[in-house]
Amino acid sequence: MHEVTDALISSPEFAGFLFNNLSSAIFLVDRNIRVQKINDAFKTLFSKEDSEAIGLLCGNSINCGFAVEQHAQCGTTPDCAACMLRNCINESLTDDKKTQSTYIARTFYIAGKPRQKYLRIKTNHVSWEGEDLAIVAIDDITDLEEQKLKLQELASKDPLTGLYNRRYFFETGENIFQNAKRGNISIAVAMFDIDHFKRINDAHGHTIGDFVLKAVADILMRNLRKADLLARFGGEEFCLLLHCREQEDSYTVIDKIRLLIEQNPIVVNDIPLAVTISAGLTTRLEDSLETMIRHADEMLYRAKEGGRDRTEEYAP
Ligand code: GH3
Ligand code: MG
Ligand code: MG
Repeated sequence: MHEVTDALISSPEFAGFLFNNLSSAIFLVDRNIRVQKINDAFKTLFSKEDSEAIGLLCGNSINCGFAVEQHAQCGTTPDCAACMLRNCINESLTDDKKTQSTYIARTFYIAGKPRQKYLRIKTNHVSWEGEDLAIVAIDDITDLEEQKLKLQELASKDPLTGLYNRRYFFETGENIFQNAKRGNISIAVAMFDIDHFKRINDAHGHTIGDFVLKAVADILMRNLRKADLLARFGGEEFCLLLHCREQEDSYTVIDKIRLLIEQNPIVVNDIPLAVTISAGLTTRLEDSLETMIRHADEMLYRAKEGGRDRTEEYAP
């Protein structure tokens, strides 16, 4: 029986069965990076038949965005020089020992439609009857990557306002702070808090309170620059790490935002609600981000004590 099964394993039928039943898309390319053989998973992944893939250069056979968008032959676009798929194939064609592995995120045109794909790639050298070929195995990990991105987003954001949460603020803020410590940028830290928010909840209910909270967060977000870091720190309290520009007064920037909220009533069920915020600010670079936040928080407290709807700046 053993002889029979051994013979079966080395038979073309068995090899063909394996080739076409793998979940990885597999293809063979020759020295010129022209595709010579594809398996069923390849046909499914790239929506191709043999006649639409075999004989073509690698990127043209898998409808790589670089080739399709520039109506070019694979290997001739400016992007191709840094293509990790081509690099791995080239490595495998010249080095017969190591398996090359890489990972690419790129647009592919599948059945005519652009699709962003994340692909895990392995290539190896194969020699057969004097021919040197590379065998390429591709796993589509797009779903996994998208789930990972979604989870990262969920873990870093506050679901009600869509702003970053405290955890993310400290993670990212620390890098910005260190950059300021190295003297590369100037930063300011501001704390905002909605005035008498409890009254809004009490008068209109929690749902409308939530709506107002979200509206305030939207105004803050829309009036900041991309590099600035804004987070919801707690209930109706927000923390901002601001990149200061030369010749720009941080107090003016923060107080403008405060004024914007004061001057734009938030409309709930056609009724305009007057909402104000108080702000505390510091531009003094301290030994830690936490200390700067504490100073901004002290100034916020002073703004509240001073009658709310105002900005106070830290001056040691
Ligand atoms: P102050 O001007 O001193 O800040 O007064 P305030 O009423 O805004 O402050 P206080 O800390 O007394 O009350 C904050 C309120 O915010 C109490 C809490 O119920 C409410 N709150 C916290 N988180 C949320 C939320 O997610 N949604 C809603 N609707 N209310 C919230
Ligand atoms: Mg408040
Ligand atoms: Mg508060």
